Amino acid sequence: MARILITSALPYINGVKHLGNLAGSMLPADVYARFKRAQGHEVLYICATDEHGTPAELAAAAAGQDVFTYCEEQHAIQHRIGRGFGLSWDWFGRSSSPQNRELTQHFAEVLEDNGFIEERTDRMIYSIEDKRFLPDRYVEGTCPHCGYRPARGDQCDNCGRLLDPTDLIDPYSTISKSTNLEVRETRHLYLLQTKLEPQIRQWVDSKTEWPSLARSIAYKHLDEGLIDRGITRDLAWGVPVTRGGQPRTGFEDKVFYVWFDAPIEYIAATREWAEATGGNWESWWRTDKGAGHVRYVEFMGKDNVAFHTVSFPATIIGSGEPWKLVDTLKAFNWLNWYGEKFSTSQKRGVFMDTALELQPADNWRWYLTANCPEGSDSAFTWEQFQSAVNRDLADVLGNFVNRILKFNETRFDGVVPAGGEPGALERKLEADLSAALADLTAQLEAMELRKSAQALRGIWVLGNEYLTEAAPWTAIKTDPARAAAIVRTGLNLVALFARISAPFIPFASEKIADAVGEPYPGDWPSANAAKELGRLEPGRPVRAPEVLFRKLEDSQIEAWKAEFAGVS
Ligand SMILES: [Zn+2]
Repeated sequence: MARILITSALPYINGVKHLGNLAGSMLPADVYARFKRAQGHEVLYICATDEHGTPAELAAAAAGQDVFTYCEEQHAIQHRIGRGFGLSWDWFGRSSSPQNRELTQHFAEVLEDNGFIEERTDRMIYSIEDKRFLPDRYVEGTCPHCGYRPARGDQCDNCGRLLDPTDLIDPYSTISKSTNLEVRETRHLYLLQTKLEPQIRQWVDSKTEWPSLARSIAYKHLDEGLIDRGITRDLAWGVPVTRGGQPRTGFEDKVFYVWFDAPIEYIAATREWAEATGGNWESWWRTDKGAGHVRYVEFMGKDNVAFHTVSFPATIIGSGEPWKLVDTLKAFNWLNWYGEKFSTSQKRGVFMDTALELQPADNWRWYLTANCPEGSDSAFTWEQFQSAVNRDLADVLGNFVNRILKFNETRFDGVVPAGGEPGALERKLEADLSAALADLTAQLEAMELRKSAQALRGIWVLGNEYLTEAAPWTAIKTDPARAAAIVRTGLNLVALFARISAPFIPFASEKIADAVGEPYPGDWPSANAAKELGRLEPGRPVRAPEVLFRKLEDSQIEAWKAEFAGVS
């Protein structure tokens, strides 16, 4: 038994997330966590909302709330929706927690003690009307290169050149539209990533087992040369800046930048979990206190890879303290909506709250796992969604479970029948099934989500093919013992399907397990199919479940296509 720490990238607090956010980190992390728990490992799956920064402040103001209340409400909403999708977080924390404040301040202090932080003077745009310094993306104006307006403070969308907001001609605040701006000097803390580069490179060199996508992104950033990064901002909402445990002189109105404190929340959320449950957070994170034997797996979108392979490790490595670093990363590309971006303002695409109102969580989970943006970007289409629900779930899995249990009720009084011996068909099934189970397990071990879903579907198909060929409804007329052996095999397949489907479609799997009197969640099966199919003892009462999956009509699909296509 191993100890496995799993984190998925932290969703930002501002607004309900779309299906791509779910498919590209939280859902695959959940599938993997459920699989590992079923194998009997000790798993801790941690996630949290990322709550600090200017967007949260502005969203709160727009909602007429103070930022603390706003974040509290939004966190509760994201928590509820995540649970609705069956995300089996052991803890869903908040980066605004006292635990994160303490740890963030701790890391900054030790980094400075070790010579990796220094104060520098920046020149930044200050908006007199907004009474705040403006982050780059909140300043717009005319591009000095091509004359395009409005060009953003960080980049011109027309000519593509990277900009500094002080380059813009006739700049204005995107918050208030005010042009009453001035350049002011302001002091900030910088994390000296240039000094840490050799240590980070040495560490990445040692990570030969990382997927090539993660390694290549890490090396790209290292080869381009790391830059020193400002880790404080002139803001009110965030972790206060300290030195020697006291407010840092000259930094009373500043906080740590959200990118500095957000990943530390992985650790802090574990501490939140420990304080709520009596767990031991240090045994997951401190290699001198038991975390040396922990395997740490991170799930994220591809835009977050540099952050997790270079930036956050710079904080950890620079501390000089024995904190756990990531062992394996799993990164995803983008899921888009018919080739376009999801957009709240343009009403394009389905967001997580609406998704649960339209369809059961398992339908989304199955579609999004089987079609996740793994090797490349992928596009959501309603046609594929309909096919995943109707063909895979309803026709293959649902139909199998229903068919065998209904037949058993009619012919064997709803109990697992005794009598009969396995024959040639069962031996062939066992051989095929053993190979398929080994494949499914191997794909999940490798975190190959699409291939895992294919392997699982292949096993459901094996069950259907077996039942069609064995035809107990024919055998019952001439050889009741033979029919009993077939039905017993079929019922054992049902029990097996509940166990292996649970990481993907937990809600339906629980109903299936319940139908055959099996515990849920069950343990993960071996690749010895003969043994796994001998699980249900004759005489055990079983019953057909309620309808597991409802098919989607073409008319419904057409209506949804129109409703969520977006306005342009
Ligand atoms: Zn331009």
